[in-house]
Amino acid sequence: MRAVALFPDGPELRVIEKPKPTPEKGEALIRTVAVGIDGSDRRIAAGEIGGDVPDGEDHLVIGHEAVGIVEESNGTDLTNGDVVAPLVRRPVDDESRFAANGELDMAPPGSVHECGITGAHGYMAEFFAARPEYLVPVPESRAAYGFLVEPASLVEKALDQAAAARSGFEWRPSSAFVLGNGNLGLLALTRLETGDEFERTYCLGRRDRPDPTIDVIEDVGGTYVDSRVLSLDEFPAVHEPVDFAFETTGHPAHAVEAVDALAPNGVVTLQGIPGSSSTVEIDGGAFHTELVVTNKAVLGVVNSRRSHFRAAAEWLGETPESVLDALVTGVYEPDEIDAALADSAETIKTVVSFDR
Ligand code: BGC
Ligand code: ZN
Repeated sequence: MRAVALFPDGPELRVIEKPKPTPEKGEALIRTVAVGIDGSDRRIAAGEIGGDVPDGEDHLVIGHEAVGIVEESNGTDLTNGDVVAPLVRRPVDDESRFAANGELDMAPPGSVHECGITGAHGYMAEFFAARPEYLVPVPESRAAYGFLVEPASLVEKALDQAAAARSGFEWRPSSAFVLGNGNLGLLALTRLETGDEFERTYCLGRRDRPDPTIDVIEDVGGTYVDSRVLSLDEFPAVHEPVDFAFETTGHPAHAVEAVDALAPNGVVTLQGIPGSSSTVEIDGGAFHTELVVTNKAVLGVVNSRRSHFRAAAEWLGETPESVLDALVTGVYEPDEIDAALADSAETIKTVVSFDR
């Protein structure tokens, strides 16, 4: 079968032929339909993050945002033809309590492999094998967009963790903003705007009109804010202090500045991972005081678990295809991987398709 693999020397991406996986007992064989690409893939391809090959191998099959169809249920409780999206993490140690609890998203670094990111092969291949606990059903009507389940599950986890952090009182959020208009930022804005948690949503970016990302924001009903014109500290006075902020930029100053843009009791979740060390000058006293006297919370959020995938799959089923389609700006063949990874002002979400 064909697969897109990273060879760490270089590093270099190559389309290779490798044997179709033979599912072990308890594993199903999945025929891949499509694999989405995000910032992590671009950084892996550039040799900046992850890219550890599985033990004893010389390459890593990339791709962690996948949708596929059960080809051989192989005695599992799945049915041939089921549309599924695979989870990203696998335990390094079979005895992991995080694995036993289905909470690998909370497992510390080093105790997990991330398929397609580091330590375990990903899904950018014609077939992959996985145990049913790592596969989540996707509505058949949205099979073509099922690669959005993994990134959307990150938004579900953020909402879940934010609500958990506010569960000590009756939190009544009504507004939210997203920092960053890359593929995750726009997906998050779409989820926050189409879901029923918030009445008003904003997305901050650094683009001039006309711009496809601004169109996505406004078409779903969000407000675009040019952060070059309006800085985060001016945001609350011009718009409103928000109850929830979702950061995707990996820009460390945002972790601090977002706190001031929150309403009392607000929560900011951080998802971006800064590429390098970077010093931010802050008024530590004001920052600390603000967190305390207004009961604010800053939460780091990485990866996601089954319940978040389920919530994401449900959202996908409820969201019109035209809304999902607006996020997808390019569908490529596996051997067009370089084009699929290329990023431009027109790029939102690109996808490698294995559908024939
Ligand atoms: C993935 C997550 C993963 C994180 C850190 C993201 O791109 O979507 O599942 O945990 O990168 O590697
Ligand atoms: Zn990702």
